[in-house]
Amino acid sequence: MSRTGILFVISAPSGVGKTSLCEALCADVDDVVRSVSCATRAPRAQEQDGLDYHFISAQQFAERVAAGDFLEWACVHRHRYGTLRQPIDEAAAAGKDVLLVIDVQGAAQLRAAGIDAVHVFVLPPSWQTLEERLAGREPGAKTARSKLASERLAVARQESAQYAAYDYVLINDCFAEALAVLKAIVLAERHRVRHANPAPIRQLLNSGA
Ligand code: 5GP
Repeated sequence: MSRTGILFVISAPSGVGKTSLCEALCADVDDVVRSVSCATRAPRAQEQDGLDYHFISAQQFAERVAAGDFLEWACVHRHRYGTLRQPIDEAAAAGKDVLLVIDVQGAAQLRAAGIDAVHVFVLPPSWQTLEERLAGREPGAKTARSKLASERLAVARQESAQYAAYDYVLINDCFAEALAVLKAIVLAERHRVRHANPAPIRQLLNSGA
């Protein structure tokens, strides 16, 4: 019998680098997968449907909300994002740890629903670094770009103030260090008595001298 996978909620403001951290974590540690959320925003350059997000229309999103398909969902930066329940349940049942890269509202919904998960908040090294990263990623004219970036920065400050509701907090100053901390969190949580795989432990306890 394999263990049931653990849910890891990873929240960080846009631009902090949580996607790269989570991708590196999945590549580095066996049996960790990232949940692919549904989103109503348009894909950015380099983003692929089904890989980064399931990009769906507002109408399709509303239908999935009505059907109860989402474990949680929220409106972030004027778009809707949601975690599909079924793939999470299937991955966890197959013994995979699942990373839910979601915002503070989604994380709060999971806590309120009493869903067992380990909550991790990732902070930027400074607001200036974050602003530069956000301005660089928005398409369009420079003024519109910096307006969007400053809106996102204001949201980032509000979101970051909620870090204390999480189980772990780290600053993504040095990517390698932040990755090492995330990896340590995943490995340590696997050894919590309630998360540990019972099969080898029972086998050991029942074995002879
Ligand atoms: P972005 O558009 O930059 O990819 O993501 C914007 C925000 O939406 C980020 O804070 C990200 O964590 C959040 N987000 C992405 N997927 C989900 C989701 O399924 N649920 C919730 N609540 N937030 C999400």
